[in-house]
Amino acid sequence: MKNKVALITGASSGIGKSTAEAFAAKGAHVVVAARRKEELDTLVASIKAKGGKASAIQTDVSKSKDVEQMVAHTIKTFGRIDYAINNAGIEGELAPITELLEESWDKVMNINLKGVFLCMKHQAKAMIKGGHSGAIVNVGSVNSFLGFPAGSAYVTSKHGLIGLTTSVSAELAPQGIRVNLLCPGITVTPMHNRIRDLFGDDLYDKGIIPKVHLQRAGLPEEMAKAILFLCSDGSSYISGSTLTVDGGLTLTM
Ligand code: NDP
Repeated sequence: MKNKVALITGASSGIGKSTAEAFAAKGAHVVVAARRKEELDTLVASIKAKGGKASAIQTDVSKSKDVEQMVAHTIKTFGRIDYAINNAGIEGELAPITELLEESWDKVMNINLKGVFLCMKHQAKAMIKGGHSGAIVNVGSVNSFLGFPAGSAYVTSKHGLIGLTTSVSAELAPQGIRVNLLCPGITVTPMHNRIRDLFGDDLYDKGIIPKVHLQRAGLPEEMAKAILFLCSDGSSYISGSTLTVDGGLTLTM
């Protein structure tokens, strides 16, 4: 991955931040995107301090213009895109269907589903124009397969990523671009902490964690390792797939 270029959305915290650090540690040049510029700048400074190459671009993935600028910035800064990690996402308002606001539904869909569509549209154009092979990893969830009460918007957006990923995989395979969906289980990130605060420690410690075969939550670094694998030559025959990294949770739910 030395001198290859990785573009990572949602890199201001959690899984995206760990993924940017993991690519940089492998010698890739990274472009990190999210809405919070200060967090991105801090990440870029820490990658550069370790001798890596990185650049930040403030981006709202639900806005077409922002996404176009994000891709243009990557090409202008590093000349190409080899790996695109579409990780940005929100849990949104968690509420039963009778209470869920229309604008909350739209917000989750716009970021989690339309955002990935917009990102792949512009990333694929740049990759095809570059005339080289590439890999795209979208970030779904165990909720790409499983529903939960009060989670209809989030769950629907993550289910939608399966259809989006498999369709685009079929479209881009002839161009040498592989497209896969990473489906994390419970992972200790700011998102996880917000949901934990909402549902209470008991649901996690007594309700969910005992259902995880490995009896613990995952770490963002463990998701980053799986994303690296899906971009590496080690996964050269994997496209249109979902890779569940959940310590066994999905099998017991
Ligand atoms: P965090 O809340 O820590 O990170 C989410 C990231 O997405 C942040 O960097 C945030 O940055 C960015 N983001 C949110 N909205 C936008 C937007 N409109 N435009 C650009 N960036 C945006 O959560 P995680 O690291 O846990 O989540 C990463 C992904 O993993 C998400 O897609 C999530 O659904 C998925 N996931 C997480 C699980 C978990 O247990 N943690 C389990 C399963 C899936 P900013 O606010 O600066 O824009």
